[in-house]
Amino acid sequence: MKIMSAGPTSVSKRVINAYHKPITNSDLDKNYVIFHREVEKKYSKLLKTNCTSFIMLGEAMLGLDGACASIMEKDDKVLVITNGIFGKGFFDFAKMYGANPTLFEGDLREGININDLREFLKDNHDFKCATLVHCETPSGISNDIKAICNLLNEYGIISIVDSVSGVLGEYIDFDDFKIDCLIGGTQKCISAPPGLTLITLSEKCKNYILSRNDIPSFYSNFKNYIAKGEDFSFPYTMNDSLVYALDEALNEISESDFVNKHKSFAEKTRKGLIDSGLELYPRSYHANTVTTFLLPKNVDSSTILDKMMDRGFIISASFGHLSNIAIRIGHMGNNISKENEKDFIDMLINLQAVLEECNVSLKDKIYKYFI
Ligand SMILES: *Cc1c(COP(=O)(O)O)cnc(C)c1O
Repeated sequence: MKIMSAGPTSVSKRVINAYHKPITNSDLDKNYVIFHREVEKKYSKLLKTNCTSFIMLGEAMLGLDGACASIMEKDDKVLVITNGIFGKGFFDFAKMYGANPTLFEGDLREGININDLREFLKDNHDFKCATLVHCETPSGISNDIKAICNLLNEYGIISIVDSVSGVLGEYIDFDDFKIDCLIGGTQKCISAPPGLTLITLSEKCKNYILSRNDIPSFYSNFKNYIAKGEDFSFPYTMNDSLVYALDEALNEISESDFVNKHKSFAEKTRKGLIDSGLELYPRSYHANTVTTFLLPKNVDSSTILDKMMDRGFIISASFGHLSNIAIRIGHMGNNISKENEKDFIDMLINLQAVLEECNVSLKDKIYKYFI
């Protein structure tokens, strides 16, 4: 089965081989601890920062939960900036930790409008922190986190950015973007096995979290992961195999022009779909990592997915308001690596055939920009 979904993505042989290295005792093996810290630094470097990154053992939802647990306190005013399903999800997290969230809702088919947000903040900026999503994976929209975080920073509002499906496939300069807390995952563009969350904190945000003594969590408490010198110990046994895999995935990423490759696949995918007469869900701010298009009314996504599965390809449908009416193509991470490029094109060729089988009339070849 060829995995071409919008995450989890496929994992390269190199990364799988690294995963199968002999395991160690991650608590007692001093060399492991040194290695672990170096992987965290390697990741920070890819985000162009010297700020602290740390690895949490747990799938990326743990990072979203952890950011809310570690930054939000009871009755804190939190701005939830949203134009999609993951964005809105932060509202519930904020409530769970006793905070007082306010929604700033953008158009679901557009990126967050920075002028509207600027106008809103002029009269309403008494927020401790704001949450936002870099790439809304269900809709395929990538928000301008540089503009948004810089604006939040002007008001001293701590920014919490979910970039689980954006990180490294979209351009990020952590310092220049003025991000305070960036949440990444390993199972999307990074294409390591699922199971780890990557957190990067600005100095300001890190110091604030370290100053807190009342974080109501153990597993989600960022304080337990921030190394404070030589005597650092993990809050629980690390899964070193996953970290070996992550390290190799980061090595692979540094060897290619990763962001531009994503941009190019995304553009060719979009152009092919548009020329064929299909309608993209986003009207602007298209993501580099995932493309979402709408199906004609008489076709549902589960039929397309089943037929693609019969042909050996896993692609994604969507969910929430897009459930059953959209298809997503995950041109991210290892799905579009050199060794899988041909499979990616094959997937588009098969998708063309499946859509036509379902009586979707296509005006052109959706894969035409790839051949
Ligand atoms: C994938 C993803 C997550 C993590 O969610 P899972 O469904 O557990 O993989 C969080 N945020 C975004 C934007 C994502 O794309």
